Amino acid sequence: MGLLALGTALDWPEAKTKAHHVRAWGIKQLLEIWNKAKVKERDAMLWGDEVEYLVVTYSKDDPKVLLSLRQADILAALAGDKDLAKEVTPPASPGGTKPKDKYPSPVFHPEFGRFMLEATPGKPWGIDFKELLHVEPDMKLRRAIAKDHMLPNEYPITLTTFPRIGSPGVFTEPHYPVSGPKLRSQFVPDEIANPHIRFPTLAANIRSRRGRKVQVNVPVFRDENTPWPWKDPTVNYDLHNWPEDDDVRNGAAPDNFIHMDAMAFGMGSCCLQITFQAKNITEGRKMYDQLSPLGPILLALTAATPIYKGFLADTDVRWNQISKAVDDRTAEELGEKPLQNDRWRIPKSRYASNSTYISEDPRLREEYLDPNLVIDPEIKQQLLDGGMDDRLATHFAHLFIRDPIVIFNEDLEVLDLSKTDHFENIQSTNWQHMRFKPPPADNNIGWRVEFRPMEIQITDFENAAFSVFMVLITRVILSFDLNFYIPITKVDENMETAHKRDAVLQEKFWFRRNLFSSRPSRGSGSGTNTPRSGGGGSRANSRPPSPVGPVEDEYKLMTVNEVINGDEEGEFPGLIPLVESYLDSVNVDVATRCQLARYLDLIRKRASGELWTAARWIREFVKGHEGYRRDSVVSEEVNKDLVGNVIEIGEREAKGKGFKGLGRGVEKLLGGF
Ligand code: ADP
Ligand code: MG
Ligand code: MG
Ligand code: MG
Ligand code: MG
Ligand code: MG
Repeated sequence: MGLLALGTALDWPEAKTKAHHVRAWGIKQLLEIWNKAKVKERDAMLWGDEVEYLVVTYSKDDPKVLLSLRQADILAALAGDKDLAKEVTPPASPGGTKPKDKYPSPVFHPEFGRFMLEATPGKPWGIDFKELLHVEPDMKLRRAIAKDHMLPNEYPITLTTFPRIGSPGVFTEPHYPVSGPKLRSQFVPDEIANPHIRFPTLAANIRSRRGRKVQVNVPVFRDENTPWPWKDPTVNYDLHNWPEDDDVRNGAAPDNFIHMDAMAFGMGSCCLQITFQAKNITEGRKMYDQLSPLGPILLALTAATPIYKGFLADTDVRWNQISKAVDDRTAEELGEKPLQNDRWRIPKSRYASNSTYISEDPRLREEYLDPNLVIDPEIKQQLLDGGMDDRLATHFAHLFIRDPIVIFNEDLEVLDLSKTDHFENIQSTNWQHMRFKPPPADNNIGWRVEFRPMEIQITDFENAAFSVFMVLITRVILSFDLNFYIPITKVDENMETAHKRDAVLQEKFWFRRNLFSSRPSRGSGSGTNTPRSGGGGSRANSRPPSPVGPVEDEYKLMTVNEVINGDEEGEFPGLIPLVESYLDSVNVDVATRCQLARYLDLIRKRASGELWTAARWIREFVKGHEGYRRDSVVSEEVNKDLVGNVIEIGEREAKGKGFKGLGRGVEKLLGGF
């Protein structure tokens, strides 16, 4: 894996001096692949999912449930298993969809947390509707294979975060003391991170560039007996091991917030990502734009993260916490000090919702773009000079405002244009909610778009449902030529809204009223090459065709239920009804349609409130537990029972038993599925 190639990783002050070098070579590699791949046509409609797991230790008679740090051993066991070499037979699965006899062996990947695993299908899924039915058995297969290569008391679970990561006492197996030189955290040891040099360097250099530790503050949920104002009782103000121990004495841990101080609190979270291959670059750019406004809606709908560091939080999703956990911006870039050493103020972390649209779709109005988008004008000019159009050059010139964080000295000796490592260095540490993935250097696959905001779900049924739903949405967008554009800053606003407790039912989101609106009548035909902007500057984006009416009239606030199921007035059709009419318009056999209906039903019911999100289910589980004292504390005992329940749900699912009679509100999470 190129990303994990070994070498000498530079510490921050030195890495900083090479940042320009990496960017310059990264742009050359980008132009090389752009010139090769921009004409690619008729790539197949392929797609694939990524499922991330926490590995926990659990046994009935052990009072503690812990994070297992055996990622490397588990991956080695998987890699060394000859029976997994090519194809694998799925376990018998009486419930759900009928599996095939054989599946290409799934691929397991390391992740940031040493307690994490990632699994992807053995090969990407194709366009055939029947393929959609193999996602769920394949996900179950992946989980079963992972479990088979663990110790008897280890389990792969798909909670987004471990509820008591960073709590005082023991929460990992084996246990390590805090605090190490890389993270300098007062809550988690350095050993929590994947030991491959890339990961500790990433964490250390983010901290070092920033000039202090990352600050992951999450509002605490205020229950009846929660002391108020609330002071995080786990913060130690008397440590003097590292200069960064001053952070909390300088106000890093404000009242009423759960305070966390390390990358592991964010990048240790699990998510569900989907990557689509487009038939050509134009379609890829269109998909990127059209899926972008759906990000916050799917974030709210998949909400699964109500607990941090042993406390109930007042938010439901992981997104902003990851954003803060890798925020490498300096005080100058954050606007806390006048600009002196840094080049610009940067409004967002490198992990954030995406900040611009990239398509040359004539329906994209200038008003949808952010006039304050920060770009590197020199980079943009190089891309324009290399033949890239204005809008895409703007996108990459925005990503390239960032410094590379992990640099291997050996890579800076000769520029290799048959690789994309320097480009990927910047691209893959811009963690936005959409990612536009150019073909790899050998150009053997197409332009891809990744949809990244969704939270991982507890069962594979749910993970398959959300994956399949998103695939169907892409089909609907393309076949009905839907228009989801709203101003990109409204997408940002929606992303914030999605964090609120029970946002799926309680909040409203900006959404486009008319998805069928056609192209503006005047000025269309602005074809592929927009005029050069002459070196960039703050007005980064070029001018699209003339508008037809005030932009503000094009969108309004809607509930997730309205977006998904349609509004009562019948003015907005709803995404599920659109998917249904798309399925009506194509040839899908009855059996397939029935199985797809299970997935669509889950999403319909989550949006309407008939079923609960995982976040809601976890909250209710904690509240209903005899050991909970209404003080926002998620104790060891509650945590153990919660994880125990999640494991039991998983075992029921693996055996195809269904979830009825499990108690603890599981029927509100999963209904009769
Ligand atoms: P990353 O972590 O960089 O997003 P991964 O390799 O972990 O990438 O996951 C990428 C996903 O894309 C996997 O589900 C994989 O099956 C899928 N995939 C691989 N090749 C293609 C392709 N040509 N088109 C669409 N999806 C693909
Ligand atoms: Mg991956
Ligand atoms: Mg991953
Ligand atoms: Mg990750
Ligand atoms: Mg991914
Ligand atoms: Mg990755």
